[in-house]
Amino acid sequence: MRGSEHRMTKLPVEDIQAWGESVEAKQPQEVLTAAIGRYAPKIVLACSFGAEDVVLVDMVHRIDPSVPLFYLDTDFLFPETYATRDRIIRHYDLKPAQVLQVKSLLTPERQAEQHGEALWSTDPDRCCQLRKVEPLTRALKGFDAWITGIRRDQAPTRAHAKLIEWDAKFQLAKVNPLAKWTWGDVWTYIKVYEVPYNELHDRNYPSIGCTHCTKPVMPGDDPRSGRWQGLAKTECGLHKAS
Ligand code: SF4
Repeated sequence: MRGSEHRMTKLPVEDIQAWGESVEAKQPQEVLTAAIGRYAPKIVLACSFGAEDVVLVDMVHRIDPSVPLFYLDTDFLFPETYATRDRIIRHYDLKPAQVLQVKSLLTPERQAEQHGEALWSTDPDRCCQLRKVEPLTRALKGFDAWITGIRRDQAPTRAHAKLIEWDAKFQLAKVNPLAKWTWGDVWTYIKVYEVPYNELHDRNYPSIGCTHCTKPVMPGDDPRSGRWQGLAKTECGLHKAS
């Protein structure tokens, strides 16, 4: 619904939770269509250019190409990730206003001056706070909903994700259309629709983050075990309740 008609997009928290329950049996595209219909133009896709997120870029593009995406550029992304971004931009003919680069307020050099060298190894939670959580908080200001690629079987911390839920941390609706999907579902979609993807996935990187904190994993291992190896950390703070 666009144009002159005024639409209230903000729902009470309990209504968002009830909505999430009511769409549990829906397909990702149906969930996206409903969420975009309610929230556009105040809805945005969070995109790391990983497998789930490129699927969502493709789905969103087919539903409403005007929905923007943003990516958190930590300054520590792999060259292959930037190459994927560029391929996605070309493939979908995205305009600059549709691809928002979000960066930390600190350059890597200033971070090293203020917090010491290699903060990612001495205090990775602080590093993620500075380079991901704070920039995300800024990026989500002005939006009523964000779309993410989290899936329930990615991690125990994501096992209870709803297709649509209230994000208490960032205070807006959170849409997780792929919550019920498996890794196999993601790759079937990528192959069927020939979606451009990060070639690191072909080199045993199922989950791709910053260069400092991402390692390849052995076939059959936990897909997220390559993130923050040797540390108890499993999440960067974007999808934690607090
Ligand atoms: S993933 Fe690693 S390098 Fe990236 S922001 Fe977090 S701790 Fe820092």
